[in-house]
Amino acid sequence: MKKKLLAVILTAAVLLGTGASKRSQDETKLMSTFISNFTELGVYYIDIDEITNQDLIAFGIGHNVINNAKSTVKRCGLKNCEYGPSLMSGAAVKASVKKYFDVDVSNETLDTDRLSAEFDGMNYHFNAAEWRPNTIYYADVKSVTRGKYFVQMDGELYNVKRKSDRPALFTAKAKPYKYNGKDTWSIITLRVEWTDEN
Ligand SMILES: [Zn+2]
Repeated sequence: MKKKLLAVILTAAVLLGTGASKRSQDETKLMSTFISNFTELGVYYIDIDEITNQDLIAFGIGHNVINNAKSTVKRCGLKNCEYGPSLMSGAAVKASVKKYFDVDVSNETLDTDRLSAEFDGMNYHFNAAEWRPNTIYYADVKSVTRGKYFVQMDGELYNVKRKSDRPALFTAKAKPYKYNGKDTWSIITLRVEWTDEN
């Protein structure tokens, strides 16, 4: 399984290197960014048929903490708020989930083993500092396979701080989709296979 996947990726890399047009290179870059939006949060497994509302809320908050902190993370105005110093609107969470999953999430209090955020009917109260991962992996899409209703993207994950550190392969399926009038994708599945045992 591992070897087969790697062979497919290497073959595709050679093809890309010889014949890929500028347009498809640009699209591959956009796909890499799309998948990196999941992996940067430590989301390494997605199945859109199994994903829970809690998973989606965790994505929405985490995505905004990492990418849109200036515009979406405010200071909570309550004195010594028991849930932490940060505040994020439910609307921002909903928008991010819609953009990447094409799902209308219901805002609710998040309570998982790892992270929590209290929803007050309008905003999430939480501690943004707890949401920043230690090691961030980005995706490098190496091959693209087009189906009738989806695109399959295969590639490697790399450590943002050390690009040669590539400990995992991934395969993802996504649906071509328009969000706010712009062409993008919504995720269907993501599987990550760690190849580096160290
Ligand atoms: Zn608060």
